[in-house]
Amino acid sequence: MKKIKIFAVIIAAVILALYYIALPDYASHMDATINKAKTPPPYAVSAAAQKLHNSLIVADLHSDFLLWNRDFLKKNDYGLVDLPRMQEGNLSLQAFTVVSKVPKNLNIYRNTGDSDQITLLAFAEHWPTKSLFSLKQRALYQSRKLHQFAKRSNGQFVIIKTKADLASFIAARKAGKKITAGFLGIEGAQVLEGDIANVKVMYDADFRMMAATHFFDTKLGGSAHGVSHGGLTDFGRKVFQQMEKRGMLIDVAHGSPALIDDVLKMATSPVVDSHTGVRGICDNPRNLTDDQIRGIARTGGVVGVGFWKIATCGLSPTAIVRTIKYIVKLVGVDYVGLGSDFDGAIEAPFDASGMALITQELMKQGFSDQDIRKIMGGNTLRVLAQVLPAKD
Ligand SMILES: [Zn+2]
Repeated sequence: MKKIKIFAVIIAAVILALYYIALPDYASHMDATINKAKTPPPYAVSAAAQKLHNSLIVADLHSDFLLWNRDFLKKNDYGLVDLPRMQEGNLSLQAFTVVSKVPKNLNIYRNTGDSDQITLLAFAEHWPTKSLFSLKQRALYQSRKLHQFAKRSNGQFVIIKTKADLASFIAARKAGKKITAGFLGIEGAQVLEGDIANVKVMYDADFRMMAATHFFDTKLGGSAHGVSHGGLTDFGRKVFQQMEKRGMLIDVAHGSPALIDDVLKMATSPVVDSHTGVRGICDNPRNLTDDQIRGIARTGGVVGVGFWKIATCGLSPTAIVRTIKYIVKLVGVDYVGLGSDFDGAIEAPFDASGMALITQELMKQGFSDQDIRKIMGGNTLRVLAQVLPAKD
């Protein structure tokens, strides 16, 4: 009897150790392994580039930071973004886009929604039990996480929800306050769980941007990496119409060509691609065609240029600026911005503290200060100012 008791205690201790030590360790190890900077910090730029960079409001349309268990308020020596590194790199406004489901054997050509890698990650990272069984709960949990970081930041970090929030953030920055901001987005509308009523739920949780799909087809339409390659469904149309009414940005990232065409036809407010490359530079199904770029520009939207290899066919500030330049040549300087995909299971050329490297490269390639201001954040701020709701 005694032996059985001891045995049971040992088993319980092993299970607890696995759950509280080994699993979080596994998640952190995965985070550190797949979210990497090719060149680790610190980064040096010229005095002239630093001076111009410090005067900018730098905005980035995509980061999957909330998927990981890192403390946003602490400077981490792994991963790609956190508040101290945003402050160092003058990355002033970051979109925090939540990921809810990622198929196994992920590729950019063909995936189904039959398998999922996030469940295990969520379990390993001790997400709330509800979120293990619900994609909607996964989104809501990640929103709560960002709100808690904002609360703990003592005013250093704010979440933008309205035009009024944006205006006071910009005013504070212009007055010299080193305030940093974020807004919430959704990578793949599977979080709606097929129910239009959940658009309001997501809005109420302060999400202000959503893409129809991530790596697999959803009830809204086809993913570029899915099976159907279909356009926008009636449900998708209704969702996006409601988002436009509420003041939420439509993101066409990861959409099939047919879906992007349909969205561009129906949209009455600016549309963004939060993170992408262009086929004219880097020809693969993940990236936008010239026509799609022209279509986004026609809506008055912004193409967020990604930093990773499948986006730019390179892994350097030069490769990022090459893609920016291509878009500028095609549609002008008003429709291009940044969409790093920091912490989206990618290797980036640098982490968030190295954003001045892009400013420096833009200067080197002959862009004017005014154009650099637009590309590095001005265009994204313009679109947000146009689309966000006036107030809560
Ligand atoms: Zn993505």
